[in-house]
Amino acid sequence: MHTTSAATDTAVITVRGLHKHFASPDGGVLPVLQDIDLTVREGEIVALLGKSGSGKSTLLRHIAGLLAPSAGTVHYRGRPVNGPNPGTAMLFQSFALMPWLTVQQNVELGLQAQGVEPLARRERALAGIDMVGLDGFENAYPKELSGGMRQRVGFARALVVEPDVLLMDEPFSALDVLTAQTLRNELTELLTRPGSATRTALLVTHSIEEAVQLADRILILGTDPGTIEVELRVDLPRPRNRRTRGFEALTEDAYECLTGERAELPPTLGTHDPLRAAAPLPHADVEQLTGLLEELDSRGGSVDLPSLADALNYAVDDLMPLVEAAETLAYARIRAGELRLTTTGSGFACADILTRKRLFAAAVLANVPLIATMRTLLIASGSGRLREHHVTERLCASSSERASRQQLNTAITWGRYAELFEYDARDRVLLLPREDHAAGHEAGRAAGHAAGDER
Ligand code: ADP
Ligand code: MG
Repeated sequence: MHTTSAATDTAVITVRGLHKHFASPDGGVLPVLQDIDLTVREGEIVALLGKSGSGKSTLLRHIAGLLAPSAGTVHYRGRPVNGPNPGTAMLFQSFALMPWLTVQQNVELGLQAQGVEPLARRERALAGIDMVGLDGFENAYPKELSGGMRQRVGFARALVVEPDVLLMDEPFSALDVLTAQTLRNELTELLTRPGSATRTALLVTHSIEEAVQLADRILILGTDPGTIEVELRVDLPRPRNRRTRGFEALTEDAYECLTGERAELPPTLGTHDPLRAAAPLPHADVEQLTGLLEELDSRGGSVDLPSLADALNYAVDDLMPLVEAAETLAYARIRAGELRLTTTGSGFACADILTRKRLFAAAVLANVPLIATMRTLLIASGSGRLREHHVTERLCASSSERASRQQLNTAITWGRYAELFEYDARDRVLLLPREDHAAGHEAGRAAGHAAGDER
């Protein structure tokens, strides 16, 4: 069993200065990938990790030769890729099996496309089916198989053509947690076994755990537009155990890199406008956040992320926005790989429903400048009404329209839950709750006086 990467120095895939933009529906251009440089070496398993929409699939399709770059180049073993890349085979999330063909016929498809003769085809397909543990299911149809078995057919079909590089687009994301775990281990074994024809792989995933489990190297893609921001080496022995310190430490590192955009706001952004200087609001559901805090409390107030994910039946990655939200509100902190409830967090977890709303309102006002500003503007308005676009305009100054929209949606949901404001979706207006309105009037008049007094 090899313990570290089997990579050599030979570059198999080389991407240089790749840019890609698509035409947007309104006639403009949508930049998706920018300045991508990446090299995959022989014998290496590389993971491309990024949030949904960061351009992972698009990058993979360039490497497969299915898309042409807007600028930049892709090379396979020194030769430019100008059409379907002959050195690669692709494994998809959706299995992409032909329902009217048997397992064996599905596995034979790729060989058929390569012009392999029927007898040799049959033999190689059977060997492939055997290799992925589906002996006995040669004549079954896809609908007779479980999701895990279908993806094994996918493995067999991709590997039987002995591609130099296996390209995988979120191949485990349609499977349940346990099946995914099993199949990841099996895939690593197939790729690293002595004599395997396919030893190089590029995996696209939005799962941190999957990347740490499988890869020798993780490239983290930022969003809007996609650029490779960080490279992490995974020098952990195989087979890898997620319960080890090394594994957990790397999971934490990757987590920080993936969510670390907040530290990288350009310094030129004004610091006077709290909306511009604020960290982005994690897109988290208040109910789920409450569930997370309750679980944490029931476990004595501290737990490592993988166990928490297990207990809640979440992928670690789906937990991320919730963990971020808990941190933003000072309800929890990450220390030495553990998520720990703070005193404030534990107060919230133990409170009844109405008290929770009050506590949540206080936490939001203290820690979320966006919501605090929305509330201040509402109170200062005098009328207790604030058109949504006044907020979006200020947000748009520091991030894309789509990102602003999402920020605002989250802020509205949190603010409504906290009863800091109401929202009229038809007119897109924020409203001060009736009971606060009188106070707002006072504040508005006070503000008017202050302005009038100024010389
Ligand atoms: P990921 O795989 O990381 O989720 P994708 O590569 O699928 O991301 O997509 C990245 C962005 O590019 C998305 O905003 C998506 O809508 C856009 N996009 C992808 N393919 C096309 C296309 N053919 N035409 C227009 N936009 C596209
Ligand atoms: Mg994708």
